[in-house]
Amino acid sequence: MEFKTEAIVLKAVDYKENDRLLTLFTPSRGKLLATIRGVRKPKAKLNFAAQPFCFSEYVLAERAERYTIVNAYLYDGFFPLRADIGRYYAACTLLEICDALLVEDNGNEGFFVAAAEGLKALAHGEGNEADALLSFALAALRESGYMLDLDGCGVCGGEIGNGAYFDFGAGCFTCAECASGVRASESTYQTLRKAAGLTFEEGKLEGGRKRALRLINAYLAEKTERDYPCFGEFIRLFSEP
Ligand SMILES: [Zn+2]
Repeated sequence: MEFKTEAIVLKAVDYKENDRLLTLFTPSRGKLLATIRGVRKPKAKLNFAAQPFCFSEYVLAERAERYTIVNAYLYDGFFPLRADIGRYYAACTLLEICDALLVEDNGNEGFFVAAAEGLKALAHGEGNEADALLSFALAALRESGYMLDLDGCGVCGGEIGNGAYFDFGAGCFTCAECASGVRASESTYQTLRKAAGLTFEEGKLEGGRKRALRLINAYLAEKTERDYPCFGEFIRLFSEP
């Protein structure tokens, strides 16, 4: 049986003599593995469709619960990512987060849209790469049931100011009086509010991007019990403009 689906390539590994095994992110079936044949031969027609980041419409044949790609129509290969190492690592981190949070055979349209928009912003947008990655990560966490509460103190509802804390278990910030969790700065809180599309205090963002990236990396690692090597490398490379 054949079917069509939009998909983003999360991973591509060489397989057999000329094939590749792709991990695809699809809106309706979540993550799935698919073989694409002959793409390592020179002049292979579907070579473009067997690279990480590739966003295409794929035609898949399904047989005995195994998928083979029979055709592909490119929407966007996000090629400008290859020209900027910071944006490249941010995009690799985006794919790493998708791979970690997605479940096989479990579609999530909102998560898929966030990933496609995130790659678009990183490859073609003018904005800061950390902001684009943070916005995506917050959406991915929300769509996966690990939503961060960025609406004041998670215990008393009060303002988050100096001497704030972040509670990893509850996924929320707490004020200096409630003091639940680990120390976190006000700039992290304001930067994350900005990334989530909420109101924020412009004067309190300084130094917040790197701290917010570290916090999201740690939060993901705790929730999913795995490492994020691309995320670590992106944070190491990132410097505040
Ligand atoms: Zn409080």
